[in-house]
Amino acid sequence: MAIQTRFRVTAAVGALIAPMALVATASAPADAGTSKHKHEVYMYKVEKNIRLSGVGSDSSADSGSQILQCDSGDSVLDGMWSVKHVDQYQPPQPDPDEDPDFPSAPTLHGVYDDERDVWVQASYPVHFEGPSDFRSWQFNLENKAWGDAQVKLFLTCIRGYTEYTNSHRHQVVVRDLFGGAYQMDDQGGWYGSEPQIQPWGSCRSDEYFVAPGFDVHSTNWRLRGTYPRQSGRSWGWSFISDGTPFPASVNIDVYGRCISRRVVDGPTPKHSLGMVGLPSWDYASWYQSDIVLGDPVEKQYTCDQQNGALHAYKAMVAWFWLDTHWDQNWYLGMEPRPKTRAFTFWNHAGSNAKVRYGTLCVNSRTSFPLP
Ligand SMILES: [Zn+2]
Repeated sequence: MAIQTRFRVTAAVGALIAPMALVATASAPADAGTSKHKHEVYMYKVEKNIRLSGVGSDSSADSGSQILQCDSGDSVLDGMWSVKHVDQYQPPQPDPDEDPDFPSAPTLHGVYDDERDVWVQASYPVHFEGPSDFRSWQFNLENKAWGDAQVKLFLTCIRGYTEYTNSHRHQVVVRDLFGGAYQMDDQGGWYGSEPQIQPWGSCRSDEYFVAPGFDVHSTNWRLRGTYPRQSGRSWGWSFISDGTPFPASVNIDVYGRCISRRVVDGPTPKHSLGMVGLPSWDYASWYQSDIVLGDPVEKQYTCDQQNGALHAYKAMVAWFWLDTHWDQNWYLGMEPRPKTRAFTFWNHAGSNAKVRYGTLCVNSRTSFPLP
């Protein structure tokens, strides 16, 4: 059963200051000084716990194919998983009673038998109910470990309209940018020995990229990074093989949408959705941390940790990049909290591994001027 949790609004109106990214964008003179009212922007998360069976048959376990949905008429902005635990299981060698579920060959189970053996083949926005459905998200996961895996799935959602103020409200507009129907070798670039996908196509200057998703059609690859490009108007992904060489022609589908920074409908002038990523979208400016060798480590990015004016913003879309020692460092997932995104990494390298991460933050009130 999926449950929803509303992101608590803690805005103090007097303290709402337009972020630098929006101040820097000149407003049209006709809009200036009007539209003083604000609308609340309703954002929430959806979450679901699943149990993926370990090696062997288990009819009571959950399917690795899951669809989560925001409320009807709303838009999903991000989908994510978090591998919480994999049960320990030490099979005898060899199997003494010829259990038919006992894998006889090492290729039938994973190589780690821990949280690293939960492989995510796909996580992407899907038009499950038809073209006007912007609320659904597809996950495909496989647990290759001996023991059962506990995994949590999450969506972040934004309501289809702002709340009412002065007897009117405005629509929040999300549209498709690209998605799934083509081979990446035809559409984007590949770099290095690991696929690094940077598709063509970007959102307009008055939009931001949201709902980044992928389907690698394989459970032998893991995510090295998912990250914004082109000042937050497009996206890139990178994957790591489990040791199996990548085939010459790889079919990876990627998905993404654009959210308008202007709300529409209702009386003019319009308002904008307050959104901000980073002072600079350049990779080098992303927040970074060292991950020490040992147990899984949680790292958090909070919208106002680098800019106190963003205290009413919610972390709606997140990114990360496994930097140095990436080959021995694992991303186990992330979790949305009201204005924080919590990432979990697990470093198996002999020395500190570096990671970089950040979020797109959305104001819980509309703002002005227009982008
Ligand atoms: Zn209004």
